Amino acid sequence: MFLRCLPPAQKGLNMDQRKYSELLNKLYCQLAKTSPVEVLVSKEPPMGAILRATAVYKKTEHVAEVVRRCPHHQIEDPAEHRSHLIRVEGSQRAQYYEDQHTKRQSVTVPYEPPQLGSEITTILLSFMCNSSCMGGMNRRPILTILTLETPEGFVLGRRCFEVRVCACPGRDRKTEEENSTKMQNGTKETKKRKSTPAPDAASVKKSKPASSADEEDKDVFVLHVRGRERYEMLKKINDGLELLDKENKTKTKVSVKPEFAVPSSGKRLLQRGERSDSD
Ligand SMILES: [Zn+2]
Repeated sequence: MFLRCLPPAQKGLNMDQRKYSELLNKLYCQLAKTSPVEVLVSKEPPMGAILRATAVYKKTEHVAEVVRRCPHHQIEDPAEHRSHLIRVEGSQRAQYYEDQHTKRQSVTVPYEPPQLGSEITTILLSFMCNSSCMGGMNRRPILTILTLETPEGFVLGRRCFEVRVCACPGRDRKTEEENSTKMQNGTKETKKRKSTPAPDAASVKKSKPASSADEEDKDVFVLHVRGRERYEMLKKINDGLELLDKENKTKTKVSVKPEFAVPSSGKRLLQRGERSDSD
């Protein structure tokens, strides 16, 4: 493996560490803002090697679809590569490709060895749509795949990380990290909070015993949420739980569901959000 370390802002270098979550391997950035990505190779690649960045949808049901910018953002952009989500900034040698067969788009830049005294090469990426853009990503999570390739296209190394392009990267990162931690410690957390009763959730759970043979709670509940922001957050949590259910079918069920299902919890989570970063 050539690529060893991507894209965490480890030490040195002038990189905004708040943007990358090591916990989630996820970069949070704003539309069209530059994100430095550090490239560390374990062995000097051959002459003419290139770095290629490609965006793909993360979820299996979307992965076949090509990631492109939304029509709205394409129209107002005079650049020739206006349909590309990922751009490389600060290099005259960036080249934009669209695969003839798959139609997948990517951007390449020649690999440049690190500056004297450094072992890291930095490339500057920017993402030209919000994750929420209608007709584009449309709230579907994406991965950025970085490959180091020979001039002939042979792949020497590969790394990928999730990317969320949004208005408040700092706040979203914090929220998602907290949610992730909570899901992992779900059982423990619930026990600890015994003193805080969640009557709604409790009664909902009791009201109907699981009828299916596999003991899975398949009842569907509708939750009315005030405010889009809060709705998005709760939806995110629910999506995460759905995913977790899917992945942990075999493991014991995590019992965080009731806690997140009540609106009052949502409010509490919001208050803990990073207000200062919200604009
Ligand atoms: Zn867009």
